[in-house]
Amino acid sequence: MYEIETKCIHLNHKETSCDRSGAISFPIYQTATFAHEGFGRSTGYDYSRTQNPTREQLEKIVANLEGGVDAIAFSSGMAAIAGVMEIFSPGDEVIVDEDLYGGSTRLFSNISEKNGIRIIKLDFTKDIVEDYVTKKTKAIYFETPTNPMMHVIDIQKIAEISKKHQLLLIVDNTFLSPYFQNPLKLGADIVVHSGTKYLGGHNDTLAGFVVSLQPKIAEKIRYIIKTTGAGLSPFDSWLILRGIKTLAIRMERAQENALKLAQWLKERPEVTKVIYPGLEEHPGHVLMKQQARGFGAMLTFEVNSKAFAEQILEKVQLIQFAESLGGVESLITYPVTQTHADVPPEILEKSGITDRVLRLSVGIENASDLIEDLQQAFLAE
Ligand SMILES: *Cc1c(COP(=O)(O)O)cnc(C)c1O
Repeated sequence: MYEIETKCIHLNHKETSCDRSGAISFPIYQTATFAHEGFGRSTGYDYSRTQNPTREQLEKIVANLEGGVDAIAFSSGMAAIAGVMEIFSPGDEVIVDEDLYGGSTRLFSNISEKNGIRIIKLDFTKDIVEDYVTKKTKAIYFETPTNPMMHVIDIQKIAEISKKHQLLLIVDNTFLSPYFQNPLKLGADIVVHSGTKYLGGHNDTLAGFVVSLQPKIAEKIRYIIKTTGAGLSPFDSWLILRGIKTLAIRMERAQENALKLAQWLKERPEVTKVIYPGLEEHPGHVLMKQQARGFGAMLTFEVNSKAFAEQILEKVQLIQFAESLGGVESLITYPVTQTHADVPPEILEKSGITDRVLRLSVGIENASDLIEDLQQAFLAE
């Protein structure tokens, strides 16, 4: 087995790619269907909704990075999570942490609930998760670190509860990417990703992944993607394959920049809170050191007034005011009106997501340029 930097670029020695042309960059198989060599003889590909060579190559790379038996590429992160929810039936209960990507909260509260799945929302950093397990509970779902409040959740501790009660443990690993964290190695059964973020890394493609540890679960997800049809297109698969090649160096640089920005923000009198797990005072710092290989490049900060938050959003020039994260470009987001617009106000308040909170996805630009941009955005008119 290669080390992770190599795995971003190559399949393992014994794994062969299905393309025999010798192309260094895996080809884009832009085809909807595949001819059969004869009666009962398939090349292994029949129809691109089920599988396509470019998508398959990408899936092998992602499965290797996460240490899963299979990774399945969807057309977006939400398509991947919606695909996972198809495993459950009416009457099933799923326990979720309440600090989640806003789109996941929207899916669980509106679509999953409508389909008869009961979603139990808890604060995994405070509530005793096991107390909420019933005979109907089928799974536990969370992100770590969480979005946007950067709570760190103990994967192994939750995995013990899920194993004891034979539940599926599903972890959204988007914020750290497989370069920094591998939940399957800590007891999770399924890892989901928005491949739109660090895996793709260039803010140019939507994608999602479901990576599973057990062949039985992988088989179920394959059946779901083939049936519901949200597979990633050949061209988008190629873009994500290309993005992943530089995952390791992008993650390192983005993390370095994030720490510098966090330290700069801490010194500013207008900033009332800096939430970055790479800072020693972050409550999840020690746990994250144990379960991950890095702290990532997402940071959240709170300023002293709503007006000041708005001023920053108006005045940033290099840093773009946009949703999303994980790309080479630094982005600043206003969670209350953007990513978390559909989250109920009581949960927003409980989580501390106020109109003074801003989230930064730190990119790989020069750190001094980023700080200079913030500096001018912080200046009074
Ligand atoms: C963006 C995101 C998603 C959804 O992914 P899309 O690719 O936008 O559909 C899910 N989880 C997390 C943590 C995300 O950041």
